[in-house]
Amino acid sequence: MVERQMKPVESLFRGYFRSELPVVLAAVKGLKVDKVAAELLRPGRVWLSVHAGIKATEKSVQTALESNGRRWSKRIEGVLGKAAVPFAVDTAYALSFKFPGFPKATQLFIRNYVPKIVDQLAESTRHRIMKTVSRGIEGGLTLPEIEADIRQVYKSWDRSRPEVIARTETGRVASVTQNDVIAEAGLDVIQIWLTARDDRVRDSHEELEGEEREIGEEFSPGLKFPRDPDGPPEETIQCRCSRLLRLNKK
Ligand SMILES: [Zn+2]
Repeated sequence: MVERQMKPVESLFRGYFRSELPVVLAAVKGLKVDKVAAELLRPGRVWLSVHAGIKATEKSVQTALESNGRRWSKRIEGVLGKAAVPFAVDTAYALSFKFPGFPKATQLFIRNYVPKIVDQLAESTRHRIMKTVSRGIEGGLTLPEIEADIRQVYKSWDRSRPEVIARTETGRVASVTQNDVIAEAGLDVIQIWLTARDDRVRDSHEELEGEEREIGEEFSPGLKFPRDPDGPPEETIQCRCSRLLRLNKK
């Protein structure tokens, strides 16, 4: 189910990163990395000014990433919201109750959650780009060479990053949607952890296979369900687990 719903999310994030590349290149170019590099090669160079140049470049890259992210936020919200609808319908069907409509709580979650995704992406992108820029400067590369390295980074991302993000975030929204549907219906539900049952499953999740918990109860510290947004990232990113839901007949 997640595999099917994640496709539009994946292509959205692919477009997002493609739109980001020129913005990042412009930010790096605007700060005259060449001058910083020349300073580095000058005899009796002033490390402080090299450092200041890199810092200024970083600030500019960060601003560019943030404004690009803000431009995409509404679209990400829309696409994630659309991807979530079948999960809501499916949950109602699985627990056989009349579906009152897509939960308001899920809409609210998505609206609050998207800025966080955008911030996290900007943060990790900034980190990677600045590593490329600093390395280039220290290695005496010219600006066009540094630009080529940045293009290379985006090219490697194009292959897998949108997919990883789409799988994680579509799955996360699916889990939250299920919870919201159950809460709105006021049902007492037992959840059973199911892994993808292949050799890519985390060891810590393999141990959870078949474990039963009530909704709201933890499966492991901080993890109340697969891809819990409050769970630790090392337990949620790329997680492909799901859960079986059944009414609690006490
Ligand atoms: Zn998992």
